[in-house]
Amino acid sequence: MKIGTVEARQGTLSRGQLPLGEYPDGGAIASPLIVASGRKPGPVLWVQTCIHGNEVGGPVAVHRFLESLDLEALSGTIVFALQGNPLAFRELSRATPQDGQNLNRLFPGSAQGSLSEIIADRLIGTALETADAMLDLHSGGHFMITCHYALYHDDGSAAGRETARLVRGLGVPNLWNSLEEWLSGAAFAQFTKAGKPGLIVETGGGARVTEEDIERFVLAIEGMTRGLGMLPGAPVALDAYRYGTNAVDLTARRGGLYRSLVEAGDEVVRDQLVGEVIDIFGDVTEEVRCPLEHGWVGAIRRPWMPIYSGEEVIEIIETMPEPA
Ligand SMILES: [Zn+2]
Repeated sequence: MKIGTVEARQGTLSRGQLPLGEYPDGGAIASPLIVASGRKPGPVLWVQTCIHGNEVGGPVAVHRFLESLDLEALSGTIVFALQGNPLAFRELSRATPQDGQNLNRLFPGSAQGSLSEIIADRLIGTALETADAMLDLHSGGHFMITCHYALYHDDGSAAGRETARLVRGLGVPNLWNSLEEWLSGAAFAQFTKAGKPGLIVETGGGARVTEEDIERFVLAIEGMTRGLGMLPGAPVALDAYRYGTNAVDLTARRGGLYRSLVEAGDEVVRDQLVGEVIDIFGDVTEEVRCPLEHGWVGAIRRPWMPIYSGEEVIEIIETMPEPA
């Protein structure tokens, strides 16, 4: 199997680069790749990290996972694309610094488009050409802190249902199945549309990576490979899951310092006070309340984060009963 500069051979671990565009000096804008080829044949899993450049726990979790990976026991191939957006990673920014675009809203991209659209086109093109399933590792980056959730797209298709099966084996307690239009440009949604399972796992953020975040990501990679039958052992099933559907992203009208009154993962109900904006003199200038009947907090703004008018302060996911 050939991916980017990597010529993968059965039973070996290979490193290389996936070219996604060019710098002005002609150098390659490229994602580093690690390709783990099992001794036995099987599916190809694409694991993607740092598509948002300041969500940096993914590569660390990949290193940790590889420490205990036995290529003799692996059926198939795992491709680790360690920098979904190499330009954003270099600047530790969420979006591409050169054009301000959020890569994970642009898929499938365009070879004739902007810099970010060219990167999107080459990244998803290679992933879909190469892989049977996709796992995308994310966090809240510098400014937000997310709870431990998986985001996927069960549209009732075979790929959607297969994703809904796999997602229950990743050790992730919060399962957010969204068909919202704003997610149609995300990489995982492109996989589902192409008839292949794909999903995001999120944990943490707030400009740091914790040991717990790394362990959660490793568990997700292990669960995905086991769910696909690539490694022996059962997927990581939990006793109970919490389900969610559409999300609301609330923004502040006022600038100031944001005080969150809830934690990521908390249950919230309509009109509950979830946060407030405090001005530089110490006065509360705005209250933020839950607009949904019942939901759970997907992400909060980092505590006491200075915010501008119009910036996001909390993401609430609408609670959904367990699907039949
Ligand atoms: Zn992200």
